[in-house]
Amino acid sequence: MRAVRLVDVGKPLAQADIPVPEIGSSDVLIRVAAAGICHSDAHYSAGISQIDSLPVTLGHETAGRVEKVGAQVANLAAGDRVCVHYLVTCGRCDFCKRGQEQFCRQVQMIGKHRDGGYAEFIKVPGANAFPLPDEIPFEAGAIMMCSSATAFHALNKARFKAGESIAIFGFGGLGFSALQLARVFDSGDVYVVEINPAKLASAATMGAIAIDARAADPVEQIKDATAGRGVDVALELIGCAKTMRQAVLCLAPLGRAALVGLTAESMSIFPYAELINKEAEIIGISDHLATELPALIEFACSGKLRFPPETLRVVELDAAEINAALDALQDSIDHVRTVIVPSSDK
Ligand SMILES: [Zn+2]
Ligand SMILES: [Zn+2]
Repeated sequence: MRAVRLVDVGKPLAQADIPVPEIGSSDVLIRVAAAGICHSDAHYSAGISQIDSLPVTLGHETAGRVEKVGAQVANLAAGDRVCVHYLVTCGRCDFCKRGQEQFCRQVQMIGKHRDGGYAEFIKVPGANAFPLPDEIPFEAGAIMMCSSATAFHALNKARFKAGESIAIFGFGGLGFSALQLARVFDSGDVYVVEINPAKLASAATMGAIAIDARAADPVEQIKDATAGRGVDVALELIGCAKTMRQAVLCLAPLGRAALVGLTAESMSIFPYAELINKEAEIIGISDHLATELPALIEFACSGKLRFPPETLRVVELDAAEINAALDALQDSIDHVRTVIVPSSDK
């Protein structure tokens, strides 16, 4: 089968012809219909996030049709539409037993520790394949499994409740989902902090209050807009110490800042004035839980979470096209997501 693989860190991904994976009794083989290209993939390929064993087929945002099921897989059959939960976990360790399986002692990420969806077929444990209703296009089913799932997990971890206000720092793929999901929670005012005019305009079109961080300090703007109160929840989706600090500073008393973006920078906080005095909380967010996915799929099915065609770009399962998309991610200024759709005639 065709696959596009990371062979050497720092080098472009390579086109490969490899065998269709053999499945075990608890696995399913999926014919890939869509695989999202994610910022993490650019990090793996550039060596910013380390991958121990190469070559590996990238792609942790996958949807497709079940081709074959192992003998022990009872809930799926050939032909079923599915999307893939990207964390393969043991199911037996203390974290797995408590339903916090992203900290599984033996966690393997699909498309990093084992072969992912940049291929014609992917093998995953049956437990990782979630039924995808006909109403949800494969492309949406694929990208939901990463950015939307993480945004949903962030809102859950921040204990976001109906009527609460929220500030979303960064309006890329995560922010685009976070804004729609905040509405699912029946949010109060939603502020979107950005420096990109097109993203600010698009956030405003979707009903958010656009905060242009180039115009003035976004914390001051949020404080002004809330009569000095601040917001109940802030999501930092950029991965920058400056905006992380702003996310904490714009909180109201009892506010929660959920930090999702990745950075190696350190962030300074004055404990008394900025945290203790208002019983604010800073919460780290990593991945998402399998138990959160059925609700997410339901939101997409009912149209509460949407990915209009203009927010998706399709490329072929071709190393040159995928490498160009990965390069473009580095300096992307829109929130268009690129999805690999393998042609069936090659
Ligand atoms: Zn991703
Ligand atoms: Zn485990």
